[in-house]
Amino acid sequence: MSAKFWPDWLPIRPDLEGLSPYGAPQIDVPVRLNTNENPFPLTEDLQNAVSESMAVTLRELNRYPDRDAYTLRSALAQFINHKSGTHFESDSIWVANGSNEILQSIFLAFAGSALGFEPSYSMHPLIARVIGKDWIKIERDDKFQISKREINLALAHSDVKLFFITTPNNPTGTTTSLELIAELATGAMDRGALVVVDEAYAEFSAEPSAVTLISKHPNLLVSRTMSKAFAFAGGRLGYLIADPKIIQAMQLVRLPYHLSSLTQAAALAALSRAATLESDVIQIRRDREQLAAELIRLGLTVIPSDANFLLFGGFTTTPEIIWKGLLDRGVLVRDVGISGYLRVTIGSPAENKEFLAALGEVNRR
Ligand code: PMP
Repeated sequence: MSAKFWPDWLPIRPDLEGLSPYGAPQIDVPVRLNTNENPFPLTEDLQNAVSESMAVTLRELNRYPDRDAYTLRSALAQFINHKSGTHFESDSIWVANGSNEILQSIFLAFAGSALGFEPSYSMHPLIARVIGKDWIKIERDDKFQISKREINLALAHSDVKLFFITTPNNPTGTTTSLELIAELATGAMDRGALVVVDEAYAEFSAEPSAVTLISKHPNLLVSRTMSKAFAFAGGRLGYLIADPKIIQAMQLVRLPYHLSSLTQAAALAALSRAATLESDVIQIRRDREQLAAELIRLGLTVIPSDANFLLFGGFTTTPEIIWKGLLDRGVLVRDVGISGYLRVTIGSPAENKEFLAALGEVNRR
């Protein structure tokens, strides 16, 4: 957006001039593979469970919700403990309307500049700017990885109090080892800084979660979401796992009753999907490997991914032409602004097939 976009009479904050809102295109086409959603809707049983759970809260919709979402936070603590062998209680969990709100609250609650390893999730710098924080970027290496070198470069920025690592990383799908995360956390602790690990795609990864590091590194915050593996993007539920003192700081900046009773009820019911989640996640992982192999067979380059999407390139023409050609054939993928690459979400087997067929037509050799 240009500065001229705003009329003179509008007292827009000068530091917001020139910013554009988050804008992944929402285009109504048959195959939507651009926002890393889970392609499998909730089962009918689960839809019924969510409905019933919400129906009960309807009786008390005249009342404000539980401000502290205690029941939901306890259930999430149990879910994490079961998955990762940890011992968290509800006081180590915070919940919000999507993990974007979790991230925003982190920026609101803590001082100092913020730093990320790019390319990564575009909302980290955008939320930082909206809140008025300086954002420093460290480039990942040419394989979109972080190594000791990048960690040391990051730690050299003494004014940074918030280090962000997304693993598996969006939009590259690459992961960062727990050893490196622990090293960053140790360096950060020495100067009273925090490390935020954005694990929106953790369930699709073979790597263990960074939640296992929190007992040793109390300055480590792990952000998760039910939008991806839980197929609950429309429900808007993100959560944070961290030291209870960090959770208390998050409560300082939350708005009263921020999480509606309907959301809390729906999320609690959807959490019961945890047990059945595994099979869909396993299928998505398997389909990811299959799709990667097919793309390589088409002569394309694929970045090895541990998430529910693939970053791919090596086109016979520009990514813009490929993107438009796919859209003309009813397939929406994402141009994430990395030169020479596009990102595709793993869809249902039928969607993946349609994507490959369209791509074969658009990327002619
Ligand atoms: N973190 C990352 C890395 C993401 O890719 C996304 C969504 N694309 C989010 C956080 C936010 O997801 P939500 O607000 O739906 O939880």
